[in-house]
Amino acid sequence: MSDVGEGGRTVLRGARWVGDGRSPGGPADVAVAGGRIVALGSVAAEHGDAVVDCDGDLVTPGLVNTHHHFYQWLTRGWAVDETLFGWLSTLYPVWARLSPEDVEAAAAVALAELALSGCTTAADHHYLVPGGDDSVFDAIVAAARRIGLRLHVARGSMDLGRSRGGLPPDGVVEERDAILASTQRVVERHHDGDRVAVTVAPCSPFSVTTGLMTESADLARRLGVRLHTHLAETLDEERDSLARFGLRPLQLLDDLGWVADDVWFAHGIWFDDAEVARLGAAGAGVAHCPSSNCRLGSGTARVRDLVAAGAPVGLGVDGVASNEIGTLMVEMRQAVYLARQRELDPRALGVADALRLATEGGARCLGRDDVGRLEVGLAADLVVWPGDDIGDVLDPLAGLVLGPERRARHVLVGGEPVVRDGALVGADRRELHRELTRRARRLWPDGP
Ligand SMILES: [Zn+2]
Repeated sequence: MSDVGEGGRTVLRGARWVGDGRSPGGPADVAVAGGRIVALGSVAAEHGDAVVDCDGDLVTPGLVNTHHHFYQWLTRGWAVDETLFGWLSTLYPVWARLSPEDVEAAAAVALAELALSGCTTAADHHYLVPGGDDSVFDAIVAAARRIGLRLHVARGSMDLGRSRGGLPPDGVVEERDAILASTQRVVERHHDGDRVAVTVAPCSPFSVTTGLMTESADLARRLGVRLHTHLAETLDEERDSLARFGLRPLQLLDDLGWVADDVWFAHGIWFDDAEVARLGAAGAGVAHCPSSNCRLGSGTARVRDLVAAGAPVGLGVDGVASNEIGTLMVEMRQAVYLARQRELDPRALGVADALRLATEGGARCLGRDDVGRLEVGLAADLVVWPGDDIGDVLDPLAGLVLGPERRARHVLVGGEPVVRDGALVGADRRELHRELTRRARRLWPDGP
């Protein structure tokens, strides 16, 4: 792929379809300059353009991943037949042993696999900070800069250990004041709201005190950054919340000032009708993570109802320790099939809806209006999908969403190539995986 032309423009020429899910057919040239989309459709050539031949390929906005735990690339294949609580209880002590270098190696692989499968913006929720060493967030940011994706890194936290009624062992939790001070430092070090956004993200109602929940919300609003947590993922969580507080999880968070348009919740499965309406009215988002929910037998989010209520809904891969794949292509298909099975209705979620969740919906969850759509003036976060094996498919969007998992041909973030001709620009994928394997095996019960 050519880089920027002498005239300052790069033109992706000849794609047969612009994938906003609304306008299939027609020419789909995309001109990029200064990191933004400057022309779409049939773009006239200008002297000095750098032209990328996309004849027969498909172009979509870059995909947006709204929930992930990059570090979990180190622990694939553990506790594969467990519920959420059983799986977490097995893994907390293993995760407690991770160093910032381990997390950086995992983050690089997570981001690489996302980039190669068309993701341009990724959220990472990191809530294990052994000894309060928040240099782990520097490591995650370094990995994102190396691979080239936009990063929404959540300074996660846990302060409710087992001895006080929480799920995690006491050894993996931190003190509330230390968490809040560290979170502010991480925001000050890394948040620019463009390439790196920092989010305040206590982990979940069963691993965090109500005091930390409240103070986290106060801190995020004081600093002008977003809030994120896991919510309503399982019926076990609902039972725990009713037993400890006499409240359903959403009511608990609402009482703590959390249900607002600067928040998005991971999973959001077990909401009743009134709660769906409340989320929609508040503009609070949901990161739908269908593969992880299936793997853990957690349930199925009410995607159509949430969208109809007006809540932003995006897709998330969740950590690969509960997903095993880590790409949004799979999540789009899984979201379509789960919604249709849940409602016994093939119209419950269309393939165009799935692409919109993975792009525009995700951007809304993350509070962004500069990515997630193909539109003149927006950031040039673009994916070119190879048309080679999709040219015979009548509806190319169906081929993209429901067909075999595809790798991107080219990926641009802010107009800069991150994947070129199917390969990472900033790193060698095989080397990243070799380093990950070396580190992951050290964690196995029988050692390396
Ligand atoms: Zn999660």
